[in-house]
Amino acid sequence: MSAAETIHVDGVWRAAASGAVREVLDPADARPFRTVAEGGAADADAAVLAAHRAFDGGQGTWPRTPVAERAALLRRVAGLLQRDREELALIESRDTGKTLEEGRVDVDDVTNAFGYFADLVTNESGGRVVDAGSPDVHSVVVHEPVGVCALITPWNYPLLQASWKIAPALAAGNTFVVKPSEVTPLSTVHLVKLLVEAGLPAGVANIVTGPGVPVGARLAEHPQVDLFSFTGGLASGTRAAQSAVAGAKRIALELGGKNPNVVFADACATEDGFDTAVDQALNAAFIHSGQVCSAGARLIVEESVKDRFVTELAHRAEKIRLGRGTADGVECGPLVSQQQLDKVEAYVASALAEGAKLRCGGQRPEPSELRPATGYFYLPTVLDGCHREMKVVREETFGPILTVESFRDEEEAVALANDTEYGLAGAVWSGDTARARRVAARLRHGTVWINDYHPYLPQAEWGGFGKSGIGRELGLSGLDEYRESKHIYENLRPAPVRWFAG
Ligand code: NAD
Repeated sequence: MSAAETIHVDGVWRAAASGAVREVLDPADARPFRTVAEGGAADADAAVLAAHRAFDGGQGTWPRTPVAERAALLRRVAGLLQRDREELALIESRDTGKTLEEGRVDVDDVTNAFGYFADLVTNESGGRVVDAGSPDVHSVVVHEPVGVCALITPWNYPLLQASWKIAPALAAGNTFVVKPSEVTPLSTVHLVKLLVEAGLPAGVANIVTGPGVPVGARLAEHPQVDLFSFTGGLASGTRAAQSAVAGAKRIALELGGKNPNVVFADACATEDGFDTAVDQALNAAFIHSGQVCSAGARLIVEESVKDRFVTELAHRAEKIRLGRGTADGVECGPLVSQQQLDKVEAYVASALAEGAKLRCGGQRPEPSELRPATGYFYLPTVLDGCHREMKVVREETFGPILTVESFRDEEEAVALANDTEYGLAGAVWSGDTARARRVAARLRHGTVWINDYHPYLPQAEWGGFGKSGIGRELGLSGLDEYRESKHIYENLRPAPVRWFAG
């Protein structure tokens, strides 16, 4: 396989049909460090055809492979991911800018996801007997794979997002074409290599590297694609989904978020409580430079503790060690691209113009050995005095920007936290368990953390209310996205029904 042979179709690694290539940049210095195939519509068509043949109307080798063997393959993949842990962490760090440690955490999480879906599909493989109200009827609901899945993923967690789709898709017996983000395709290419090494039959796992348009758009509209699963931004996701809907495909969308982190004063009643809430607010907002769909980008803090809380938060944010993700001691990497940097700068400018008060950051850092001047670095930024009419509060910035709003009572806290068109995730911090649970119950978000931020479990569904998406990944629902239910009704004592007198 040569450097630009990153398209895998029907068991063969190859270049784009057009011969086009794209250089992948290291966001820490904006220098190209790898070349990948720049696929087009013809490559998407070839990949779908291969997946379609391998599925073969449900008669292909993989959809008919016994569940225990499919689960065994997923477990082999989990083992290979751990074997290549350091290599994958390095790929992810150079491609996305995240730190090596974040890359390792991603590999471990992904390993768990493959293991989880191996176990789940084993336990959930049996059908469900339905009581038809007669001893002469045997009625059962069974699961079958959906067919050819088109899987589209974003640049912020490339390995993780691809795995949350690929593991359940394979567990359920589907074939697929994955299209990673053109900005960060490398770890998904490596993952497909591991699937091949683990023994998947040719045509089951296909990858086309290339841009959203035309590759992703072609997959969305392709008549031989049965399921379209997209993780990415609201605008491109809904655009792609429209053509998928026109073809009556099954659709799953994991879109953006604008996530509230609600802190009550009683969470800060002790010094330990205060320290923990500040520390976690910092982590919620700034890990991976805020390029996280569930980032706690809206700090909503009770008025009585707001000033002390924000002063300490800004003080600690200023100390975050920013630099190349692969360097020792770095806590936060660069943004992923010039486009993302421009977007973040524009959001900060608009916030200041709308009256926000800059508490720290608000600019690019001084270049240093750890931070080349050409890299896409931006300082962690805290904006106080924000309100819900501001663009920076309403829209997903996907950068290291934390906005601060305050509230006077529980009712106002809930109203603020729910005042978003999104509904992906959010947190509530309180020393009063009853209050924390009350508020959590009222938050219209797909994941709510109480006195924590960011953990997720493979066995718990992930996804959003409102414009954060349609459907769920992970958990049983994450497997069901990739399964059809089929009702088989067997009459053990057939007899005429005499509906027609005849
Ligand atoms: P994006 O929407 O620009 O791109 C996502 C993917 O869609 C890429 O592979 C891209 O090439 C492809 N694409 C773009 N236009 C397309 C089209 N017309 N048809 C088909 N495919 C198309 O998003 P991004 O900038 O890569 O990622 C950031 C976004 O992803 C943020 O909004 C973030 O919140 C979201 N995200 C959500 C989750 C979640 O779990 N809900 C997780 C990670 C990221």
